[in-house]
Amino acid sequence: MEKQVWLQHLTWEEVKQKTTKSKGTIILPIGSTEQHGYHLPVGTDTMVANSIAEDAALKADIVVAPPLWFGWSPHHMVLPGTITIRPELLIELVCDIIQSLNRHEFIRFILLNGHRIVNVSWLQIAAERAKRELGVKAVIFDPAYMSKEFDNQFGWGEVGHAEEIESSHMWHCYPELVKMDRAQDNPAHHLRIYHVDPRHAGDTLNYVPSSPSEMELLAKTSGGTAGEPSKASQEGGRKYHEHLVQKMVEVISFLQEETN
Ligand SMILES: [Zn+2]
Repeated sequence: MEKQVWLQHLTWEEVKQKTTKSKGTIILPIGSTEQHGYHLPVGTDTMVANSIAEDAALKADIVVAPPLWFGWSPHHMVLPGTITIRPELLIELVCDIIQSLNRHEFIRFILLNGHRIVNVSWLQIAAERAKRELGVKAVIFDPAYMSKEFDNQFGWGEVGHAEEIESSHMWHCYPELVKMDRAQDNPAHHLRIYHVDPRHAGDTLNYVPSSPSEMELLAKTSGGTAGEPSKASQEGGRKYHEHLVQKMVEVISFLQEETN
């Protein structure tokens, strides 16, 4: 039988077997549904999280929970297809999911964040609560942070939105959903003290979602893209993806080796 990693594809007996075999380890992909320029689908953030989760889980023989397709995206509401939920709701959802899975012996949780810096605060709160109240292990896997050592030989710029990093990754994982001929560049404007790319020496982590007027301007300028998707490549996407899958496999074995 083909190896199945998605929890929703398994029977409860299979879930039980996998739980024991994986020492109670599970990945929760958490993304968003929001505009991603003219060329990427609105499900991009969830889809990239799903791809990393699926490929790493196949290698490590563990289970992946059904993905959370919704995140806090008030700034992207300026364009259609975007769905935003309140961050407090996201925290509660993640906590309830962890609690349910923990009831049946999942004890090692990896929160795989596809929605970049926007999700990080809420996932930290949920992970801390789960650790304190349930005594489980909970870590956050953020692709931007976990790709700091990625050999960026492709001339990619900083983390933006629907930019060359995300476009390359999607182009590799879901070529049928990517419309590169529609992509529009919008090169990053360098600000002296404001960067949210962990690879950038000036990273400040001081993120606040853009205002509606700032986003209207972005929508008008590039259809919602911040960055240069013209620098995207399928080959770069493949290498980036493989780097992240390898990192995820390392995180899984690190968690499984820990005994308390
Ligand atoms: Zn995105």
